[in-house]
Amino acid sequence: MSKILIIGAGGVGNVVARKCAMFPEVFSDIMLASRTLEKCDQIAKAIGGDRIKTAKVDADNVPELVTLIKDYQPELVINVALPYQDLTIMEACLQTKTHYLDTANYEPKDVAKFEYKWQWAYHDKFKDAGIMALLGCGFDPGVTGVFTAYANKHYFDEMHYLDIVDCNAGDHGKSFATNFNPEINIREITQKGRYWENGQWVETAPLEIHKKIEYPDIGERESYILYHEELESLVKNFPTLKRARFWMTFGEKYINFLKVLQEVGMTSIKPVVYEGREIVPLQFLKAVLPEPSSLGEGYKGQTSIGCQIKGIKDGKQRTYYVWNNCDHAACYREVKAQAISYTTGVPAMIGAMLMLTGKWQGKGVFNVEEFDPDPFMEKLNKYGLPWHEQVDKPLPVEADK
Ligand code: NDP
Repeated sequence: MSKILIIGAGGVGNVVARKCAMFPEVFSDIMLASRTLEKCDQIAKAIGGDRIKTAKVDADNVPELVTLIKDYQPELVINVALPYQDLTIMEACLQTKTHYLDTANYEPKDVAKFEYKWQWAYHDKFKDAGIMALLGCGFDPGVTGVFTAYANKHYFDEMHYLDIVDCNAGDHGKSFATNFNPEINIREITQKGRYWENGQWVETAPLEIHKKIEYPDIGERESYILYHEELESLVKNFPTLKRARFWMTFGEKYINFLKVLQEVGMTSIKPVVYEGREIVPLQFLKAVLPEPSSLGEGYKGQTSIGCQIKGIKDGKQRTYYVWNNCDHAACYREVKAQAISYTTGVPAMIGAMLMLTGKWQGKGVFNVEEFDPDPFMEKLNKYGLPWHEQVDKPLPVEADK
């Protein structure tokens, strides 16, 4: 029986709140807090039964967070606001000795660069305070780290090649929209690509390397190499990896929209002066694009995200592919969300459940792959994200067309 505080009432916050509310035996009391109180109230009302308390909080403000945490006294804070707030929320957790969980790593507002170094730097402070932080517990990062740890535990003596493949074959019917916070999403896609090879990072131009990859029950989709944050922790925690890459699908139309927006300067994070005040073009763009939480209704098709791994077992070459397919419409029926919010919110709930029931325990700052993957894998099957695996079959990422 535990009290939790969820911060952020967007697409993912809605799923985390609804999923946690389903398990009162673990999450006995839930508070949902965010910048806009009405969004919290709407979610609480939809869940009903007085399950969710709500509050307004500016998560950029440490004293405000500390006051809220001291008043409510949760055991764990689930941060599903934006990556900009990771450090302020971690700081408030430290000051109040409260466990912490998030789904995306910190990035400063004025540089599009996401790295774990700022959050890993809290390890000793969290350890000394006797509390735990679990970083990146969504799908990617999150389940992709658990999948990799599961492969390592059960199928390999040494993993050598890892390809994370992320396909969204859904159609939301809008001309252009992003599936999670537009500002964060566009910053991620428009920066240089990067992958790990032979002990170093190889940099590419944005979306430079691409090819068709076959996804289960979906078919072939053009997939692009991006830098994604879990690569940083996975190559650190599995040092036998000779190469680690992350692939994501984008449709031609999406790429064209993005190119135009980039070329006219709308994706820039450098402030411009407009009618006497400074505005950041990308923040203005976010304000006119659909909110991720509004995309669920009528969204059709599936996502497919998985890990394709090559390595050695008992002296022989082995290949392994583990993945989940998730249907947008089924997510909407269950929790009024699209699959990107769902595949992020369910793992956050599972991570929180494992922490609060003592199955994943530690003092300090951790990434998901540092814990036993088995209870997490079991709960994915149980709570809405069933997975499939293939052993010693050709890997779709390697098929040459
Ligand atoms: P949304 O933009 O839909 O929601 C973000 C929420 O955070 C909004 O409710 C917003 O409030 C709130 N917020 C923003 N700034 C503050 C602040 N200073 N104080 C309090 N609340 C604030 O984004 P998503 O729900 O799609 O994404 C949430 C998080 O999940 C992001 O960090 C994203 O990167 C991560 N994510 C992780 C994935 C994974 O697989 N690991 C995949 C997808 C997302 P307001 O409504 O007022 O703007």
